[in-house]
Amino acid sequence: AVPSATVCQTASNKPSCKPAVFIPVDRAPEIQEARLKLPILAEEQSIMEAINENPVVVICGETGSGKTTQVPQFLYEAGYTSSTGAIGITEPRRVAAVSMSQRVAKEMNLSRRVVSYQIRYEGNVTDETQIKFMTDGVLLKEIQKDFLLSKYKVVIIDEAHERSMYTDILIGLLSRIVPLREKKGLPLKLIIMSATLRVEDFTENKRLFSAVPPVIQVDARQFPVTIHFNKKTPLDDYSGECFRKVCKIHRMLPSGGILVFLTGQAEVHSLCRRLRKAFPFQKNNTAGDDDKEESVEEIRKFKKSRKRKKAMTLPKIDLDNYSVIPVDEGDEDRDAETDDDVAGSDLDLDLGDADSEEDEKSDSSLPLYVLPLYSLLAPEKQAKVFRPPPPGTRLCVVATNVAETSLTIPGIKYVVDCGKVKKRFYDKITGVSSFRVTWTSQASANQRAGRAGRTEPGHCYRLYSSAVFMDFEQFSAPEITKRPVEDLILQMKALNIEKVINFPFPTPPPAEALAAAEELLIALGALKEPLMTGRPAVSEEETAKLKGKKARLLQMQRIWAGQGLLQKLGDLMVMLGAVGACEYAGCTPKFCEENGLRYKAMLEIRRLRGQLTTAVNSVCSDAGLYIDPKMKPPTEAQATYLRQIVLAGLGDHVARRAQAEELLDDKWKNAYKTALLDEPVFIHPSSILFKQLPEFVVYQEIVETTKLYMKGVSAVEPEWIPVLLPPYCHFGKPLENPPPSYCPETGRIRCHRPSVFYRVSWQLPAVEV
Ligand code: ADP
Ligand code: MG
Repeated sequence: AVPSATVCQTASNKPSCKPAVFIPVDRAPEIQEARLKLPILAEEQSIMEAINENPVVVICGETGSGKTTQVPQFLYEAGYTSSTGAIGITEPRRVAAVSMSQRVAKEMNLSRRVVSYQIRYEGNVTDETQIKFMTDGVLLKEIQKDFLLSKYKVVIIDEAHERSMYTDILIGLLSRIVPLREKKGLPLKLIIMSATLRVEDFTENKRLFSAVPPVIQVDARQFPVTIHFNKKTPLDDYSGECFRKVCKIHRMLPSGGILVFLTGQAEVHSLCRRLRKAFPFQKNNTAGDDDKEESVEEIRKFKKSRKRKKAMTLPKIDLDNYSVIPVDEGDEDRDAETDDDVAGSDLDLDLGDADSEEDEKSDSSLPLYVLPLYSLLAPEKQAKVFRPPPPGTRLCVVATNVAETSLTIPGIKYVVDCGKVKKRFYDKITGVSSFRVTWTSQASANQRAGRAGRTEPGHCYRLYSSAVFMDFEQFSAPEITKRPVEDLILQMKALNIEKVINFPFPTPPPAEALAAAEELLIALGALKEPLMTGRPAVSEEETAKLKGKKARLLQMQRIWAGQGLLQKLGDLMVMLGAVGACEYAGCTPKFCEENGLRYKAMLEIRRLRGQLTTAVNSVCSDAGLYIDPKMKPPTEAQATYLRQIVLAGLGDHVARRAQAEELLDDKWKNAYKTALLDEPVFIHPSSILFKQLPEFVVYQEIVETTKLYMKGVSAVEPEWIPVLLPPYCHFGKPLENPPPSYCPETGRIRCHRPSVFYRVSWQLPAVEV
């Protein structure tokens, strides 16, 4: 074991920083050797001095300089952990929390009981944990339980340059927690780490910290990277262009790993497959075999077989107890093929590329070791990118922007950057979200290029022209300024922060958006109910990923949708049926696999249900009520109550079928009118209510592809609306239309204030209240 003090001296050539306490770490010699090469080791002394002397410190350093893996180790060695206090590190991405905790445990030769991670519903934290990696959402939840975060001695906010919403909220909250802990005589250190020098929102914001925190810059040993712009910018086929570029690099340029940046999982797989075909590896190429089952080709074959509409043997759910009875199902299928592209950010199954594939064969004898990398890839497959490629091969990693700053892949000399990123766009006023592939920012393109110069001079091939690059936005705006603020307000209220408008956000969201959201939440009754913390979010992962089991799931949906009044609950009944059926089948991976459900999501739902039933049962036990966690299918009456509850919670998401005057225009055929949009909105083809077209529905979200589609749809009865949502109803003369406005983000014309427009657009049937 090499004592840390020696490390410090060797690395920096400065006199040793003698920590007051020194906890030795027994590192393996090869780990120690690799550490010594990291630029951050040269700054250990100045970092520790700054932390010892200041409550808040900002550390900026190029990706790969060692911030995430080394700073927790510096703190550990300097005695910043004990049985009463731990070091907490937050990451905006789950993959980073898991992978970094593994890496640090390995470097320090410590058990995972001591260096642990916690992401939502999953983790290995124990009583012995001293270094804890977690997602930013997890720390926010902990603040709700213990505002002073008393079990931590240090909190590190990592990847602060990403400006995720939770990171920004955490920094705002910690700016208040740090002085409170100081007053109590139990100081808490806050360290903000960023891959860029753009930290003035944290350091120069007078509302955040009373004293300007010191900024320590880690000089990266970055080698020069030659940037090659394309003369022309390919308009659509950037994936094909990536393929051609990788082929050229591999055939013509000296050894060195290649890293390709694409925008989503399907593109990544498609390119991996093409490259493996072009530069075949020997038969036992484990990299190739590994994700075969996920390949685009497989999915395409599956879809084709589905189109043939062969009769399939499917289990049927007995709704009395959700038991599964195998039966022969007919071939009726709904047309949900039309818009696979509406799925979530990393999850799309875009098959365009696979269709247009050329059978390009290489004359090169050197095999290419091709690995995919994206957030939802299983951790053991992700870990492969850190290992050296098999001898006699060249490494080629095809990644989404997770390889931009979260994970550093060793040995990369060539970067191929398509210049694009898949982003969720959200119109704050209308609530319409859409996923779009757009140009990335200059800052992120430069981060991508930087990946090529870590160990020797490198090259970055940008598949767009320099003129296009000059038009990129400089940095992407903080998430908090771009997304809906309703759940932000509810989170803050759950933390007992009454005046959200006065909260010290590093970059505050627009005051009018906060005010409008607050008004909406009051109209929905969400802010009066002390127990309410927001409508349950269906995560992108849950809604978007069904992979190759989609056809079967579509058939199962009809079974889960139930009969009679249950059907009116629509897509929510389908979800309830799926969860119930899974529960009764013992929630096994096999059941999920066979029925197109995602096993991990089912486990998460199960755990969440467990938490909720326990909480509700503890509140209701005095009244003699008990909820059986083994959920029974709802009765028709219960399903009706559920629809009313959903309506009360999604009051601003009510839609009415187009009526006579709208139907004069063909574009309104089968369309719905929502409160906030002038345009026709349709029930998504994947919805169980797609063909039924009830008069009034509530939806969970609107996604935009070729049209505006509602997802997560349930039917509601019009006479419930004035009872459950009085602020949205008006029985008198219609008000004048508010002037429309233009949303620059989505290019959509929208109407103003929801409540006004409801009053205008709906003359609801008069009912006795
Ligand atoms: P930063 O946080 O500054 O971007 P990191 O601490 O993540 O830097 O990475 C420092 C070094 O550790 C990099 O060279 C990276 O390749 C290496 N590294 C990180 N995780 C692993 C891992 N799981 N296996 C091998 N090397 C790793
Ligand atoms: Mg990092």
